[in-house]
Amino acid sequence: MKTLESVSLKIIVILSLIIVLTLSTCGQSRNVNQSALNMNNISKPENPYYSHTDTTKLNLTDAEWKRILPEELYEVSRHAATERPFTGKYWNADIKGTYYCAACGRRLFRSEAKFASTCGWPSFFEQEDKKSTILRPDSSLGMERTEVLCGRCGGHLGHIFDDGPPPTGKRYCMNSIALDFIPDNE
Ligand SMILES: [Zn+2]
Repeated sequence: MKTLESVSLKIIVILSLIIVLTLSTCGQSRNVNQSALNMNNISKPENPYYSHTDTTKLNLTDAEWKRILPEELYEVSRHAATERPFTGKYWNADIKGTYYCAACGRRLFRSEAKFASTCGWPSFFEQEDKKSTILRPDSSLGMERTEVLCGRCGGHLGHIFDDGPPPTGKRYCMNSIALDFIPDNE
């Protein structure tokens, strides 16, 4: 009987160990998921001006921007280059979250203001707050358009048109390259 008891005891100990190990493994996988979510907080160590909370206007030289921005972003943000339609990351994105200026981190648009546009660039009918963007007449390329600039860093984001949906009737036609997106945590 004693042998049987000790065998059952061993089985109980082993089962407990398995349960404990399983629980701790589950806990680890939750931690992994959590850190994956934290990855959504964009960090740009090469760009000390980047912030999602600081709205102080930036007035950097072109050379400084060239030093801290990736080449593609620098060309769009500082020299008004335009990405080819249907090539950017966000033109047909449909996830809830917030769009920020990729050059300085200024909060620009909410996903609720984004609409399915056929133009091939991410399109919004409304900016996040009154100071998110600045509008400026643009007569380049033989066209009369209105340029949209970031309200904090003055970087080029795209253009605005009057063919958007209600309630504003506006279409902020943006370059994906000029935007960062952080999905809402579920
Ligand atoms: Zn900016």
